[in-house]
Amino acid sequence: MKLVTFRCRGVQSIGKLVGNQVIDLPASDSLIPRTMLELLQSGPAVMARARAIVLEAAVTYPLADVQLDAPIPNPSKYLAIGMNYRKHVEEALAAGIKVPDSQVWFNKQVSCVTGPFDHVHLPIASDKLDYEAELGVVIGRRCRHVSAADAPAMVAGYLVCNDVSVRDWQMRSPTMMLGKSFNTHGPIGPWIVTADEIADPHGLSMRMLVNGELRQEVRTDEMIYDVWDQIAYLSTVMTLEPGDVLATGTPSGVGGAMKPPKFLRVGDVMRVEIDGVGHIENVVVAEPT
Ligand code: ZN
Repeated sequence: MKLVTFRCRGVQSIGKLVGNQVIDLPASDSLIPRTMLELLQSGPAVMARARAIVLEAAVTYPLADVQLDAPIPNPSKYLAIGMNYRKHVEEALAAGIKVPDSQVWFNKQVSCVTGPFDHVHLPIASDKLDYEAELGVVIGRRCRHVSAADAPAMVAGYLVCNDVSVRDWQMRSPTMMLGKSFNTHGPIGPWIVTADEIADPHGLSMRMLVNGELRQEVRTDEMIYDVWDQIAYLSTVMTLEPGDVLATGTPSGVGGAMKPPKFLRVGDVMRVEIDGVGHIENVVVAEPT
C-alpha cells in the first residue's frame, strides 16, 4: 500500500494510492483517522480497514488533482545516521572528518519536515547548501529494546528522504544538529510504501540527480549498519514511536566533497529516486526575507 498525506482544495487528508487515483481514507471509512500519525498509532485493525477499501466503494481524486504533503508532516522524531556508506566515509575522511567506530546519530528537528515536491530554502545564513539522498524508515509500532531480529516487525514502511544539509553550520558543532535542521531541509515522501511491499530494504537502488546530472548512486546493501541494526541501537536508548522517521545514511557524491565543492544554488532541482519506493523532487529557492 502507498499511503499519502494530501491536500485537495486546501483541505488535508490521508489516502492510499491505487493506480493514478488517491482514495481518501477517512472520507471512505469514518473509522479511519484524518492524519497519518493517528493512522500509524491506531494499529493493525485500522490499517487492515484501510487496506480493504476498494476503488469502487471509495471517495477518490485523480493524483494529478491533489498536492502531496509530507506523508508524516509531524513525526515525533526525525533521526538520521551519518557516515553509513563506506565510500561516503572515505570522502569524509579525505575532508578531514574522523571516522566513528559506532553509529553516529543526529537530530533533524521535526520543524524541517516538508513535502516531497516543496521548495527548499537556500538559507540567508549560508551558501554551503548540500543534498543527501537517503532511504527513510517509518516506525510502525511503539517499541524499546528491540533486537535486530525483531526490528523488521517494528517498521510501518519506507519513503524517500533528502537530508538537506548546511555544511558550515553542520561542522560548527559535533552534534551537527543545526546544520541539518533549517526549515524546509527535510523533504520526505512522496508516500509511505508499506513494509509488506519491500521484500528487503537493503536491496534497493537509490540515486540523486541535480538538474538531471547523476551525483549519487548506490544500492542500499552498501550500508555499514543496516536498518535492523539501526533500530536495535536507537531503541537501546529511547522509545521509538509510530511515525518516527529514520534517515539511514547517504552514499558518496555529496556536493561539498567534490573538488572544487559544488554547493546548491537558487533554481537547482534535486531529485532523489529509490526503485520500488518512488521519487521526490525539490527546487532550491532563496529563503524569503
Ligand atoms: Zn544524512
